[in-house]
Amino acid sequence: MIPVRGLDGEKVVILGLGRSGLTAARAILAGGGEPLCWDDGAAGRERAEAEGFALVDPTRAGALAGVSLLVTSPGIPHLYPAPHPAIAAALKAGVPVDNDIGLFFRSVAADDWDTMDKIPRVVAVTGSNGKSTTSALIAHLLAEAGRPVQLAGNIGRGVLDIDPPEEGGVVVLELSSYQTELARALTPDIAVFTNLSPDHLDRHGGYGGYFAAKRRLFAEGGPDRAVIGVDEAEGQFLADQMGEGLADDRVIRVSAGQKLDGPGWSVFARKGFLAEYRKGRQVASIDLRGIKGLPGAHNHQNACAAYAVARTLGAAPRLVEAGLHSFAGLPHRSQLVAEAAGVRFVNDSKATNVDSAAKALQAFDRIRWICGGLEKEGGLAGLHPYLGQVARAYVIGREAEHFALGLGAGVATEICGTMERAVARAVEDAAPGETVLLAPAAASFDQYDSFERRGEDFVARVRALIGA
Ligand code: ADP
Repeated sequence: MIPVRGLDGEKVVILGLGRSGLTAARAILAGGGEPLCWDDGAAGRERAEAEGFALVDPTRAGALAGVSLLVTSPGIPHLYPAPHPAIAAALKAGVPVDNDIGLFFRSVAADDWDTMDKIPRVVAVTGSNGKSTTSALIAHLLAEAGRPVQLAGNIGRGVLDIDPPEEGGVVVLELSSYQTELARALTPDIAVFTNLSPDHLDRHGGYGGYFAAKRRLFAEGGPDRAVIGVDEAEGQFLADQMGEGLADDRVIRVSAGQKLDGPGWSVFARKGFLAEYRKGRQVASIDLRGIKGLPGAHNHQNACAAYAVARTLGAAPRLVEAGLHSFAGLPHRSQLVAEAAGVRFVNDSKATNVDSAAKALQAFDRIRWICGGLEKEGGLAGLHPYLGQVARAYVIGREAEHFALGLGAGVATEICGTMERAVARAVEDAAPGETVLLAPAAASFDQYDSFERRGEDFVARVRALIGA
């Protein structure tokens, strides 16, 4: 655990008692602070009480008197569509609002860092898609290169739950826009921006707010190195702002498609090959095409970003290449789960938005596509250019008819409603050489608790049908 510094003897309200909230309460206590816990749900309150924490409803009159800080959880709206009543009360009372990420950055540097030759480094990854894959891949590459590494944030352990990093250690954090928007301290040594596409817009008051939330990681944090995907205008803008021109190698530009051979530092993938350029010269090249854990151009973008981070931390290209090959991929992200009679079955349940689903559709030829669920804002038109490889779309979800309409006339659709029916129909139709792909382009909550349950359901039904 990382004990929270600077709150000795202070009262701190913890709002939201899920995994990160309870960990924050423990870490504040370990640092000498006095956590006061609250959750609108009884189950969370009971968990906190069972651990002996005091409960305080922050919306009660006078509850915030003498409170130094309110620490909130990422699932609780702090501004849009409207602040949660407890946060509104804190804002009104002038109580600073923070989250576990802010507490982590203010607390991670321990006294014994003075005695280290090689102090620990923190890498933080943000962006719309590919955060988990890129974070896990960075951790894997560094571990293979012999660095002590811990993965935390949205993936791995809670940020305050990790062990105090040891000499030469690296902490890799995956951070969402909710987290970067709120954290009062954000000081990674290396910050990574994967890409930008619309998501969670209701929580950020629109696209500009969403980008601004992610941008804070760079603007506030002043990282030594910024690894930035420049395939969208926002990434280019960010790279431009973070450096003094193209030759400034504090910024490493990353692309999945464009050749970046300018005077600075860049890593890009084209036609399945990764290239690293420095000062206008190519210094390394890696064939990514046969790497099973990283299929498709979107994963090549992740590979480039992770490669860049490993290089800034001193890993040699050949070592990184070996690490890319031994990366197994993450469950529910373009994951090959079975192969039978020449048909591949791929679980990309994490494709909860249009952009990630579009990427999955580009990663395979001849697709039997299972899609649908709770549609996000912005409609499905972004998928239209990528439907050429789809033999048929098998649509699930409570609003399957509406979803199918949104796919337009360019693709054959079949309303299946349930995963059971969709898998059965796709298996019936699939011919050798085709891929049955779950990439819903929608959230799962109309039918499942989470995208993980949806992916597990897909895998179980595939296995039951093909007898794997
Ligand atoms: P995040 O943590 O940002 O949600 P994940 O690595 O969990 O990212 O991947 C989320 C979804 O996006 C998956 O469907 C995955 O296949 C897809 N994806 C992964 N990397 C990228 C990328 N670089 N660009 C677009 N989509 C991606």
